Amino acid sequence: MVDRLKGHPWKSTSVGDETDSNCPRCKEETIHRVVAMMAEEVHLVICTRCGSQHKYRPSLAAMRKKVPLPSERQARLLKKIASSQASKDGESLEDWRKLKEFAGEGQPLPYDQNVSYHENQAIQHPTFGLGFVRTVIDASKVEVVFEREVKILAMNRLKSD
Ligand SMILES: [Zn+2]
Repeated sequence: MVDRLKGHPWKSTSVGDETDSNCPRCKEETIHRVVAMMAEEVHLVICTRCGSQHKYRPSLAAMRKKVPLPSERQARLLKKIASSQASKDGESLEDWRKLKEFAGEGQPLPYDQNVSYHENQAIQHPTFGLGFVRTVIDASKVEVVFEREVKILAMNRLKSD
């Protein structure tokens, strides 16, 4: 028995995994769940769309492109998603922490598009939470780093006389 948590789950497909297969009832490629394995091969699958159980039929796309096993493809996709999320979040979070340190304990201003902000200004946004102005882009736009994302926000909409 392979311990899927300790091993490399993408190296082999296991019962319960999802895989693309041609479904005879849906008459197209749908996502299936593996219900039985024979040797190292997927044997029986169940269609997650119509619920019919049948022998595994490799997806047309997989056969045409001779891509690796669907489980490998899924793993690569998951890894790609995970790494892109990590770098995006990491980047934003790192800057956010630095700016937070720099801004100190000052009270953040509630976000208001009619107000003018300056660099390192702390802003409390109703949706994005606590953010800090990283760049003043022009007289009406600021780039604000929030804990989870970076946003371009409008400011100084109303010119005060
Ligand atoms: Zn189906």
